[in-house]
Amino acid sequence: MSTYHIQTYGCQMNYSDTERMEAYLQALGYDKSATFDEADLIMFNTCSIRQSAEDRVYGHMRTIEQMRRKHRKITVVVTGCMVRKSSSRYSSQRDKLFGTMRELDIALRTEELPKLATLAREIDPESKIPEIKEESLEDYFKIDPTHSSHQSKAQAFVAISNGCDKFCTYCIVPYSRGREKSRDVQDILKECEKLVENGCKEITLIGQTVNSYGLSQYDKEEKTFEFLGEKEPFIYLLEEVDKLHEKGLVRTRFTSPHPKDMSDQLIHAMATLKTHMPYLHLPVQAGDNRTLKRMNRTYTVEHYRKIMAKLRSAIPGISISTDIIVGFCGETEEEFENTYNFFNEMDFEHGYISQYSERSGTTAAKFIKDDITDQTKQERWNKLNDGLLRAKSKKAHERFLGKIVHVLVENQEGKKCLGRSEHYKTVQFAAASGSNLLGEIVPVRITKAMEWILEGELA
Ligand code: SF4
Repeated sequence: MSTYHIQTYGCQMNYSDTERMEAYLQALGYDKSATFDEADLIMFNTCSIRQSAEDRVYGHMRTIEQMRRKHRKITVVVTGCMVRKSSSRYSSQRDKLFGTMRELDIALRTEELPKLATLAREIDPESKIPEIKEESLEDYFKIDPTHSSHQSKAQAFVAISNGCDKFCTYCIVPYSRGREKSRDVQDILKECEKLVENGCKEITLIGQTVNSYGLSQYDKEEKTFEFLGEKEPFIYLLEEVDKLHEKGLVRTRFTSPHPKDMSDQLIHAMATLKTHMPYLHLPVQAGDNRTLKRMNRTYTVEHYRKIMAKLRSAIPGISISTDIIVGFCGETEEEFENTYNFFNEMDFEHGYISQYSERSGTTAAKFIKDDITDQTKQERWNKLNDGLLRAKSKKAHERFLGKIVHVLVENQEGKKCLGRSEHYKTVQFAAASGSNLLGEIVPVRITKAMEWILEGELA
């Protein structure tokens, strides 16, 4: 039997996509390979957020070249953010990646996964890949994911939309994944129900801008959610998923929302639904209106500040993290200082700070000069990440000292357990000898607060 290996990079959305890719390959008759070296089909599910993420894929191509020199027959597929056009090495119109990746056989846009069988036959007409007849394998969102990203069946990602309509100037997603499309609400609910029946306790709804579910241009044209009247489609979805509490669902989360679509309805739902956890990752990207404008983030610092105040008033103690890009095109010292001060003022408990790197094909790459030196980007990153973020994270952790939190155990090696609390804090503790807590939610008293992790003991 032929085997596959998928190498995944980037965000949770990519990991969720990989679960669909696995299901599709298994339907084609492929088995999961234990190692990269033994697989017959190697797929790279790529991320373009930084050059380094792309460089890692190019690095693997050199390994593949060596494997092929030893006469290993391998099919090489690249999917995810690096791809614009689904094509094979023999297609008349090929993705531009074929110009820089000599080892590449197939370039595949994520949502065009069902084209993989045809493209694989194009490169190897002798292959035994079967004709796909099942309707469920012809539509990307109908493919039943393997839910293999988590170690236990107690947690799952559920994708609710794909693509993006926001067009931030630094981002490639609207071009690589295309315009935003929402998944059928009944399909999402059926998937959630099945997961809960199989023991899932925590569902994370995911989408590029998850809270614009049902509000995309495409949804408006299709009038898909007109039946809801004033209620926002995302709220309806959250409420319906929350009803699964009766069947055993304990926690829901969602990621990542866009500040523009953080409505009062949504904040109310987060505060009142039984299963929603007191945590939110809300990317701000910059704390200066001029920078935000050049990024085309379509909100202001003042708007973001109001949302934060509403969230903290509706959900006391909520933990909020964010994303920041430093060194974006034209970022002056004053603009950076505003971002730094805003991070401080908002008291973010955690954050992913990245240095801007120009991505080919984006609006910024075409029209805005990347004029900040690498040294300045590094200095700004150091100041925000090592200076402020560490201190904020440690301070946020200290408020849990001596308190009991409930941890969903994601990983257990011997007695050593690791999991997340209600506030999405990473907590480490020891299980009793011989007990298996993987997938359980257990009370843990916090005894030590470090910068990135909490330590505790079973309560
Ligand atoms: S909201 Fe902006 S950063 Fe996020 S996926 Fe869409 S274009 Fe990219």
